[in-house]
Amino acid sequence: MADGKRVLIVGGVAGGASTAARLRRLCEDAEIVLFERGEHISFANCGLPYHIGNIIKEKDRLLVQTPEQMTKRFRVDVRVRSQVLRIDRRNKSLAVRDLASGREYTEPYDVLVLSPGAEPVRPPVAGVGARRVFTLRSITDMDAIKKLVDEEKPPHAVVVGGGYIGLEMAEALVERGLQVSLVELLPQVMGTVDPEMAFPLHQELRSHGVELLLGTSVTGIQENGPNALTIQLSNGQSRDAGLVIMSVGVRPEVNLAREAELKIGDRGGIAVNGHMQTSDPSIYAVGDAVEVVDFVGGHQALIPLAGPANRQGRVAADNICGRDSTYHSTQGTAICKVFSLAVATTGLNEKNLKRMGRRYEKVYVHPAHHAGYYPGASQMSLKLLFDPQDGRILGAQAVGTSGVDKRIDVIAVAMRAGMTVQQLQDVELCYAPPFGSAKDPVNYAGFAASNVISGDMPICHSEDVADLSNDRMLLDVRNPAEVKGGTIPGAVNIPLDDLRTRLHELPSDKEIVAFCQVGLRGYLACRILSQAGFRCRNLTGGYKTYCAAQGVGVQAATPARELKSDTGEKT
Ligand code: FAD
Repeated sequence: MADGKRVLIVGGVAGGASTAARLRRLCEDAEIVLFERGEHISFANCGLPYHIGNIIKEKDRLLVQTPEQMTKRFRVDVRVRSQVLRIDRRNKSLAVRDLASGREYTEPYDVLVLSPGAEPVRPPVAGVGARRVFTLRSITDMDAIKKLVDEEKPPHAVVVGGGYIGLEMAEALVERGLQVSLVELLPQVMGTVDPEMAFPLHQELRSHGVELLLGTSVTGIQENGPNALTIQLSNGQSRDAGLVIMSVGVRPEVNLAREAELKIGDRGGIAVNGHMQTSDPSIYAVGDAVEVVDFVGGHQALIPLAGPANRQGRVAADNICGRDSTYHSTQGTAICKVFSLAVATTGLNEKNLKRMGRRYEKVYVHPAHHAGYYPGASQMSLKLLFDPQDGRILGAQAVGTSGVDKRIDVIAVAMRAGMTVQQLQDVELCYAPPFGSAKDPVNYAGFAASNVISGDMPICHSEDVADLSNDRMLLDVRNPAEVKGGTIPGAVNIPLDDLRTRLHELPSDKEIVAFCQVGLRGYLACRILSQAGFRCRNLTGGYKTYCAAQGVGVQAATPARELKSDTGEKT
């Protein structure tokens, strides 16, 4: 038990505040002191862009707990504007500076919890320290950005970095009427998903007027008079802007831990065991500052997300109070809103799997988020990554206007439960036409992946189609009207419904790569062809995924019946 123990906590937001609250719930007698160098504790970092964008109008809504409320409810000694300077492990004490008075003092501890988070990276380019160049982590950062936008109404902003904070800020600034240029070093935004899944985000950003500068970096920033900056780009161009948001990633804050000679892991985070204990058993660490075990790969990783930080705080508190509680790895389940789209992911992406040399296969499905015949159905794209031998789910990504969160959450839970893609076929999810389909997108993904493993649906991918050899033939089984909107170069068109009567037109010595708009009719074509003695593969995800992989928009709309079930029945 933590009875009578003095527990000091460094950092008063997600991980730190969760630890403090759980500690108090478990142990009335512990003395708990929480140090936070900023002015606020327990605020909603995740909500900061939405206040700048005026979606969350009242700032107070972001303050989940004030120091006074925390003290009253949890009897925690909260000390804001208090920076912890050093850890003296030998004497089990902290050196603390009261930032208001400048006074330095020492506080002894029995147990110490570090939750200092991760700091935004400022790339080493000239001018990055200019007054109008912001990062976004705290309420203070948010206030400064909002004040500038409210008072100066700058016409143009440059957002550097297309991760979730950059995307949310680009949207917030567009909402505030600014012309936004988004500069991203990679050829895609949202690097946690694969390029073809990021492509719809590019379209969405551009359709809202965001100038997307991919494969581009900032090489310098000059102050250009009192109200403007000139941002130099690696492509030789420049942009003028009233403000710059630097959102190129975060790095764990490990200075205190490093100076105290606590073990730092290979990825640069504080090393902890499953109990969230550092290399010193009296010191725990949680949140963005720690390295975690990746749930799928089993490797060490830095995955800075709010859910893990909160759960780790709980685990640390349990163990401090004598319970045996273990943090079981991080899966990287995350979601981001980009105007009317949502993009979500769980597990490893294909880029990671390739880099790791891990065996994997992938399928794409593009079903409607609820029954296609019920008004308002919208199409989503869902990518499922799995082990082609044992069916283990390795990761999933989805993008669409509705229902993306539900599908990725279901798959995330299935992964935690150790389920296979074959078992996804059987998950029974709630259904009525306004909410889903009798065959949910999750079932669909399970059907498609299981058909691949069983051999019922040999597949190929857009990258295979790019270098089609002579012994393969491309067969477009869509209707001529759809083909008019564009097809894959070299493809022969035989609509699915004519296929049985036109089999004699197909070469028996070539493998046929069949495709349709989203992969469903391509699958049906393959079933016809393989039972007629042809060798055939279906292009998974169809022409839609092919176009996304090529980085071009699909012109032909997906026919409504392809958004329904594969047998055409309505339920
Ligand atoms: P933090 O919440 O950063 O808290 C650490 C605190 O420690 C800081 O307040 C810092 O001032 C304090 N501190 C550091 N060193 C000292 C010291 N020496 N002395 C005293 N105090 C110190 N995650 C999601 O899952 N979903 C989202 O939608 C999402 N959106 C986000 C949007 C933004 C703009 C930001 C910035 C983050 C977002 N995150 C999101 C990430 C999420 O907020 C973090 O993963 C989470 O807050 C990490 O918790 P933490 O306790 O480790 O660190």
